[in-house]
Amino acid sequence: MHDQQLLRYSRQIMLPAVDIAGQQALLDARVLIIGMGGLGSPAALYCAAAGVGTLAISDFDEVDLSNLQRQIVHRQASIGQLKVDSAKVTLNGLNPECQIITLPEKLTGAALLEQVRLADVVLDCSDRFSTRFAINQACVTAKTPLVSGAAIQFGGQLSVFDSREANSPCYRCLYDDSDDEALRCAENGVIAPLVGVIGTMQALEAIKLISGAGKAAVGRLLVFDALNTQWRSMTLSQDPACPVCGFENTGF
Ligand SMILES: [Zn+2]
Repeated sequence: MHDQQLLRYSRQIMLPAVDIAGQQALLDARVLIIGMGGLGSPAALYCAAAGVGTLAISDFDEVDLSNLQRQIVHRQASIGQLKVDSAKVTLNGLNPECQIITLPEKLTGAALLEQVRLADVVLDCSDRFSTRFAINQACVTAKTPLVSGAAIQFGGQLSVFDSREANSPCYRCLYDDSDDEALRCAENGVIAPLVGVIGTMQALEAIKLISGAGKAAVGRLLVFDALNTQWRSMTLSQDPACPVCGFENTGF
């Protein structure tokens, strides 16, 4: 770590739970963020600011005027550009040392699994159940920790799934295919700072997982009620019949 890095990250390095070793782990880490929308914006900004060395960002969409109310990594001048290109400019403006890998396609199948394998942590900042199930499957297969966030209207959710831990639940233990017609921001509205709260929590959990600080919310579901300013925390259990991670389906 050079002098400029010691200065840039000094407020983290002085934390005993992070120290030089934790900061170096962040600099050496690669985080995959899927979705450069409302959740992906603050998640990517904080990961870049905090010194995550490599950020792979995936989104096939372009910046639209209606995105700017909450997708704070994008700028008015970026309307019409690919979201990953728009985000890269903002993120490198914040921290030029953060290597940004842009993936301007819908990641599926082998390409998704390859990116998940390359990552130390995956942040699911997407807004469709079909995408969320595919990301979860890839994370279980690759044994890459997954930080999952969701926000709609005035409600948010956060969970961390870590398949490296025995009997740890996965996203599919929590939801099944019948939930596919669920709410999306595009059709149902969302209050702007809510995606900031949840996306920022995703960055925080990722930074904890990588630096080793504290204990990430593995196997827990945190539910935020923004209208009443209340957090609830629930413990999740692995579903033995889960088609992705359940032992009834893996032959053990
Ligand atoms: Zn499962």
